[in-house]
Amino acid sequence: MKITIIGAGIIGTTSAYYLAKTGHDVEVIERQDGPGLETSFANAGMLTPSMADPWNDPSVLTTLLTSLGSSHSSFKLRLKALPSMVFWGLSFLYNSRKKLYYKNLHRSADMACYSLELMDDIRENLNLNYDQITTGSLKVFRDLESLEKLTKLSQELDQHNMRFQVYYGEELLKIEPSLAPVMGGIVGGVYFPDDQAGNAYKFTSEIEREATQHGAKFHYGVSVEKLIKKGGKITAVKTDQGEFLGDAIVLAAGSYSTPLAKAAGLNVPVRPAKGYSITVPLNGWNGGPKMPIIDDGFHAAISPLGDVLRIAGTAEFAGLDESLTKDRVDNMYDLLLELYPDFEPYLEREKVTEWAGLRPLTVDGSPYIGKTSIDNLYVNTGHGPLGWTMAAGSAKMLSDIIDGKKPRLDESAYSLERA
Ligand SMILES: Cc1cc2nc3c(=O)[nH]c(=O)nc-3n(C[C@H](O)[C@H](O)[C@H](O)COP(=O)(O)OP(=O)(O)OC[C@H]3O[C@@H](n4cnc5c(N)ncnc54)[C@H](O)[C@@H]3O)c2cc1C
Repeated sequence: MKITIIGAGIIGTTSAYYLAKTGHDVEVIERQDGPGLETSFANAGMLTPSMADPWNDPSVLTTLLTSLGSSHSSFKLRLKALPSMVFWGLSFLYNSRKKLYYKNLHRSADMACYSLELMDDIRENLNLNYDQITTGSLKVFRDLESLEKLTKLSQELDQHNMRFQVYYGEELLKIEPSLAPVMGGIVGGVYFPDDQAGNAYKFTSEIEREATQHGAKFHYGVSVEKLIKKGGKITAVKTDQGEFLGDAIVLAAGSYSTPLAKAAGLNVPVRPAKGYSITVPLNGWNGGPKMPIIDDGFHAAISPLGDVLRIAGTAEFAGLDESLTKDRVDNMYDLLLELYPDFEPYLEREKVTEWAGLRPLTVDGSPYIGKTSIDNLYVNTGHGPLGWTMAAGSAKMLSDIIDGKKPRLDESAYSLERA
């Protein structure tokens, strides 16, 4: 079958790999000059089923209200985004009801765990280098109440065989000695030994090479303008460089999937949640963490990725706006120096890459994967804060659906029909 994929982020590229490997004739259309240059470029790098909990937990409304006006808050809503957020926002809040929250949590955890199994296979069978680490991840806390809350959540995730270990006070140093200088402010943490990490951009580039070896063709610098629909199916993908045809079309354009689908009369309720990162060269410093550290108080993470540290976090609803806001970027520097004050002499700001990307967020925290109401149009988008974690599982599920095979996970749970 001839398959045209729109978007060469981590999701579109990994989908291209599985589909081309199965023998399909795959083409990928990407407006950037290479793979993984938008949201998949400088994320926190964590492959963390342990973070499958949707953002809209039952306390989200209080969090949103208390965060208004604070530059350190986890959420920020910009006025210009409001009109596009009303219905979506109400549905986001509706999904924070306890029963739905737990249903959504387990759906995301299923996909995240499945994905990590596939990542193990990929690492075993392909010779990829993406600064991968399999040392787990650690969430640290500055108050006992939040630590207890995560401990309860981790017990809930037990049914997914997700191992975890709670450490109080100085015990933490047994697994992450680099935190010694700041232990005064930290009451404890939860260690997840099965989590992984790696550079999502490098992985996307490497899996693109593998997809190409299976015959996939990537067209860079080509912008999709419109999906042309006739008689209930997509007959062509109109781009700034002519039309592309395919028996099946896959929309994997991250947050931009929504406007492209809308123009074809299809509702894909994904909203961009902007996040920030800084990528900091280690400059010979060797006092850093050996695994990603998530600081609950800062709502941000520090990940060691090869010879750099990546500090990432925060969520800002500002529409399709990728510009950098100074106070949000400064939060990333603050976290770095709060956890690793000894790094200050090694920090050379002119060598730091500051970045923002748009997480494609759904109201229930899980992606939309598979068929749509338009005959030959498929989606693979809406992975929110876990697109790197869920990429392999989502791509394999899409490939199975297109092939008419039964996916490992229940495809109806991830279908766009639930929107
Ligand atoms: C600060 C931050 C930290 C994060 N940390 C993590 C983490 O630690 N772990 C994790 O699992 N996830 C994390 N994420 C989430 C993850 O990065 C995203 O879920 C993932 O990158 C989404 O991938 P995607 O392929 O759907 O989107 P993208 O990477 O944005 O890819 C979509 C592609 O479509 C292309 N495109 C769009 N419109 C068009 C068009 N009209 N024509 C042609 N091409 C088009 C774009 O150029 C882009 O390359 C983080 C995100 C952010 C912002």
